[in-house]
Amino acid sequence: MDRYRVKPGKRVNLKEWDPGDTSALDGSEEEAEDRLVKLNRQLEDLQELLYAEGKRRLLVVLQAMDTGGKDATIRHVFEGVNPLGVKVASFKVPTPEELGHDFLWRVHRQTPAKGEITIFNRSHYEDVLVVRVHKLVSPDVWRGRYARISDFERILADEGTTILKFFLHISKDEQKKRLQARLDERDKRWKFNVGDLKERKLWPAYMRAYEDAIGKTSTQWAPWYIVPANHKWYRNLVVATIMVETLKSLKMRYPEPKEDLDRVVIR
Ligand code: AMP
Ligand code: MG
Repeated sequence: MDRYRVKPGKRVNLKEWDPGDTSALDGSEEEAEDRLVKLNRQLEDLQELLYAEGKRRLLVVLQAMDTGGKDATIRHVFEGVNPLGVKVASFKVPTPEELGHDFLWRVHRQTPAKGEITIFNRSHYEDVLVVRVHKLVSPDVWRGRYARISDFERILADEGTTILKFFLHISKDEQKKRLQARLDERDKRWKFNVGDLKERKLWPAYMRAYEDAIGKTSTQWAPWYIVPANHKWYRNLVVATIMVETLKSLKMRYPEPKEDLDRVVIR
């Protein structure tokens, strides 16, 4: 899955990243689904271990264009995982209170505690994406934020948080199909948002904003992965595999009991 990680300092040109890629899997789509089931079980065990050990934190950032599959990725990748140790934080248009603070204020308070996994459904990256595209602040303000974001993530990492950032990369054609499906299928209509059409018109500006955001903030301590997301099953497989590999690499251990439990007798 290394092929999807953006090396620090690399300039990103999204045209060079194929959203329809499935090259990390040699089997069929069915095999991919079997693999996802296995990865779900592994993730379940690893999350329990993280929770039991109670020492480390995992932060997962999900970003995508509308219909990119953030919600579905959370549903599928975390299927079966114990909700006790997992939180989802969704970031919407900031409230007046949030706007009264620096852009990282609302984000920092949602970061994971020890033993927890937190998934950011959108994130502080909106402050260099939608905010840039819609000119909600001046260019020197958003330009300065890349360095601030990397510094912030550095603080989290140095304090024991593992950070994974996923850009779910779909093509503009794929978005059209998915928006059309929301119109055509009655029980998907609730997801249709006329405002999304306005954002769709800004596709090229969003791609430029994503290229800068990803290229300027993919670091050793908080890497970005550009996940091919036109195929939903492949997207799930890539995210789940990276999560499992990352958690395994932490070499976590169940805590030793404080007493000698071999001598305990229950009457
Ligand atoms: P959704 O995720 O579809 O519920 O939509 C949330 C909306 O909030 C999206 O349109 C985002 O662009 C918007 N949003 C999230 N963060 C910010 C932010 N920092 N500034 C402005 N808009 C934001
Ligand atoms: Mg939306």
